[in-house]
Amino acid sequence: MRYLNYINGKWKKPTTGEYKENLSPHNGENLGEFPSSAAADLHDAVAAAKKSFSKWKKLSFQQRASYLLKAADILKKNVQEVGQDLIKEEGKTFLEGMGEANRAASILEYYAAEARQPLGEVIPSANANTFLYTTRTPLGPVGLITPWNFPIAIPVWKLAPALIYGNTVVIKPADLTPKSVYHVIKAFDEAGLPPGVINCVFGRGSVIGAALVEHPDVKAISFTGSNQVGQQIQKQAIEHGKKVQVEMGGKNPLVVLADADLEKAVEIAIGGAFKSTGQKCTATSRVIVEEGIYEGFRELLVARTKELKVGDPLNEETYIGPAVSRSQRDGVLEMIDVGKSEANLLCGGEVPTEEELANGFYVRPAIFENVPQHARIAREEIFGPIIALFKAGNYEEAVKMANDTEYGLSAAICTNNLTLAQRFIEDVEVGLVHVNSETAGTEPQMPFGGCKNSSAGSREQGKSAVEFYTEIKTVYMDRV
Ligand code: NAD
Repeated sequence: MRYLNYINGKWKKPTTGEYKENLSPHNGENLGEFPSSAAADLHDAVAAAKKSFSKWKKLSFQQRASYLLKAADILKKNVQEVGQDLIKEEGKTFLEGMGEANRAASILEYYAAEARQPLGEVIPSANANTFLYTTRTPLGPVGLITPWNFPIAIPVWKLAPALIYGNTVVIKPADLTPKSVYHVIKAFDEAGLPPGVINCVFGRGSVIGAALVEHPDVKAISFTGSNQVGQQIQKQAIEHGKKVQVEMGGKNPLVVLADADLEKAVEIAIGGAFKSTGQKCTATSRVIVEEGIYEGFRELLVARTKELKVGDPLNEETYIGPAVSRSQRDGVLEMIDVGKSEANLLCGGEVPTEEELANGFYVRPAIFENVPQHARIAREEIFGPIIALFKAGNYEEAVKMANDTEYGLSAAICTNNLTLAQRFIEDVEVGLVHVNSETAGTEPQMPFGGCKNSSAGSREQGKSAVEFYTEIKTVYMDRV
């Protein structure tokens, strides 16, 4: 089946007449053909977003919220189909894929509820006759550029706040996972969203993404993806005078102190590192274990890792699905080779030989130890199921190792020592800290984002989203 762009409330063919197959990373099945659009399609989408802005921003918050709620209901009604399509195109396991599809609806509900929350402040004036307050205004048409690894959650956590605060949207989904976003757009279409409020243009980042960043009528860009692309987009957006938000990679540490519950810590390491095949920006990629517990931890970690089922993501028993694409899997295999020259491979790293996995992009989860701090596998974001295991003499050394990275997205600590847990929260240089839980895992009502090279400093989700999607207007109102 052929899918189309969504521009000004209509499904439209791309001006190029060209389409790209959306292929399953499990078995190569063709899941549909999506437009390979040109800049001209993007320009039409921006024109539609610009035209619809003046009416959309004048609706009340609750009128706008009604569309978010209707779209959430439609997604919930179709959640089996949406979740399965997500699993088929991204390769996420059954639980994670269905969880993410449900989460998209709950993010929409969260932002619909923001329609009843206060916005702005009343501030006392020096003048008894003056009423001082702030309000917030939307920016205009905003451009959203999203990655493949959370193919529905990330687009929705950008779309929902953009819309509720009165902006119109042009979205460019990741070209590896277009179908998940198609379901969201279809839900808004069925919800009766006015034409032009959301526009979706499928195609390559270097064509559509770049045209979006450069377009003079797009007032802001929210990007999630790699550092390489994000840093370039940040520079271009600033040059074009736009507000910009870039959320990028991570090299997230889990610190396990000697007093931690060993079995629980091993499960936390495995879940953080291997769920979603390690393809989360918040995935655990470095595990730093205090000396006293190191040997026991390593033994259990390796034993449990060998038991994990690698296979068809639609099979509910699978723990690790395929990498999202051949090039992603090849990149992981290359880093496993690099790791073998830098450190000791304790287990995994092979391509499975089972017949039913032969057409998929599979790799078994790998654990390395004796990893030097300067090793590439200790420093680079791999985005695959690989743990680099380190031994630390004490808490101070563990924190020093945890912070020895250009990234600063997420970190976790396993300990029963309240004082050290609190010190870790203060000492570790990241945007998200977990105590006795995985480095990955977020809730929509909480701010999300990183420090250092993981982000340009803004936060998404929760109440923080209002900062990006609106501007403050300061009002001085005098009685005459
Ligand atoms: P990517 O940077 O390759 O692509 C992200 C998006 O940018 C895609 O839609 C792509 O088409 C587009 N794009 C590519 N080149 C472009 C260009 N020149 N101009 C404009 N747009 C362009 O990232 P990816 O491989 O899709 O995603 C994986 C990366 O995303 C990882 O580094 C991961 O850590 C990161 N990520 C970060 C977060 C976070 O919130 N910090 C969340 C999820 C993923």
